[in-house]
Amino acid sequence: MEKLIDLAYIVASILFIFGIKMLGRADTARRGNLLSAVGMLIAVVATLFYKEIIDFKWIAAGLAIGAVIGGVWAQRVQMTGMPELVALFNGFGGLASVLVGWAEHEFGHRTDVVTLISIYAAILIGGVTFTGSFIAYLKLAGKMSGRPTLFAGQKAINGLIFAALLILGVYYCIQPVAWVLYAIIVLSLLLGVLGVLPIGGGDMPVVIAFLNSFSGLAGAAAGFVILNKVLIVAGCLVGTSGIILTIIMCKAMNRTFGNVLFGGFGAAGGAAGKAVEGEMKGISVEDAYYVLEAAQNVIFVPGYGMAVAQAQHAVKELGSLLEKNGAEVRYAIHPVAGRMPGHMNVLLAEADVPYEQLCEMDAVNPTISQVDVAIVIGANDVVNPAAADDPSSPIYGMPIINVHEARTVFALKRGKGAGFSGLENALFFRENCRMIYGDAKDTITQLAAQFKSGH
Ligand code: NDP
Repeated sequence: MEKLIDLAYIVASILFIFGIKMLGRADTARRGNLLSAVGMLIAVVATLFYKEIIDFKWIAAGLAIGAVIGGVWAQRVQMTGMPELVALFNGFGGLASVLVGWAEHEFGHRTDVVTLISIYAAILIGGVTFTGSFIAYLKLAGKMSGRPTLFAGQKAINGLIFAALLILGVYYCIQPVAWVLYAIIVLSLLLGVLGVLPIGGGDMPVVIAFLNSFSGLAGAAAGFVILNKVLIVAGCLVGTSGIILTIIMCKAMNRTFGNVLFGGFGAAGGAAGKAVEGEMKGISVEDAYYVLEAAQNVIFVPGYGMAVAQAQHAVKELGSLLEKNGAEVRYAIHPVAGRMPGHMNVLLAEADVPYEQLCEMDAVNPTISQVDVAIVIGANDVVNPAAADDPSSPIYGMPIINVHEARTVFALKRGKGAGFSGLENALFFRENCRMIYGDAKDTITQLAAQFKSGH
């Protein structure tokens, strides 16, 4: 039986690895997701057979309650609320690891040093992940200010807590008494809160990826606690892929990881960049249509506003009409556009935009001066030229899609609202940029209607 279970774990691990690999490409991502889910099912079923760990009805009850809560929640959540949900899921993963570590301390029989280190790691990493993710959730959901919360001596306090946790960890491995464990739990939870408070909402994509990685590492530590091989493998996979994503996100925002964690980016009274002068010029849908009608080369640059407006299907329709009219159409995707990694890819895939028309920032930027019209759909920060040419701007150095170099830019947004970073965008004041005000879906639908009526 044990051999069979090991075999099932190996199969599950292989499915996880191939599943993650397939998630890297839009056209194989769905199958990759399914493959990983099948792997998880095999792992869960195999674990249930493992030494009859616990009375079956508790597992069934837990499974049913979890499935109902998860299912209802996932059904109800808006696409724009997805990052908050991911943050909470990470947090619950961390909490689960804390509980596993705690339970092993209370009821386990092993007191060897490897087990004690594993309990300590599961509780420390899991505790930080739990409360850190909860703060990330509150910030993203707008239930607390997205601005960094900074106070005097903050770094020193965090440093002291961290040092205390290290000392307590060593003590616990030598003398595994309950009060040390409780102190580790409380301080880890506190460190999670204090660690994420000083991080601004603009850096939340990185924080979410990082906490995701942490939840994986906490899971791997919990795997060592209960000696479950597949939990160790899955935890390590999540841990490493989360770190890789964190590095990619940092690069996309041109920030170092240390600067994200400790920089207090976007704090009140921080750098705001040069004041933008000039005026935004509008254009009517009809006039915009005439420009588009003559365009040979068009790129769509979607951002958070496209998600809010749920404009992806309308965008795909306009894209097809432009193609029919003879234009080359591409969709340029910035790695941090929207509110979660891959946000725009998911929306455009949902609207069946052909994968080969999706272009990454690095591929599209060198060709942008040949673009006749760049249609910016509810994107703001990811096309802010201050990132390229205003050294006093807080986002200076962040790679952007250089739409300002296109011949003409149409910027679709509802009004004069700022982007996530709260910064004014000089793009909208440029000579080659025209604003089309209104909900992005309405505007795109009106433009498509102009093409359909052959105006
Ligand atoms: P931004 O948040 O910078 O800008 C979105 C724009 O959309 C706003 O200026 C708003 O202007 C407009 N908008 C909102 N609703 C609509 C609507 N219904 N129709 C038309 N326009 C609308 O978006 P970007 O995608 O450019 O940038 C993403 C930002 O979010 C970056 O700063 C990034 O760091 C951050 N972030 C990214 C995450 C990720 O993982 N991708 C996660 C968390 C944060 P108006 O109000 O005038 O309509």
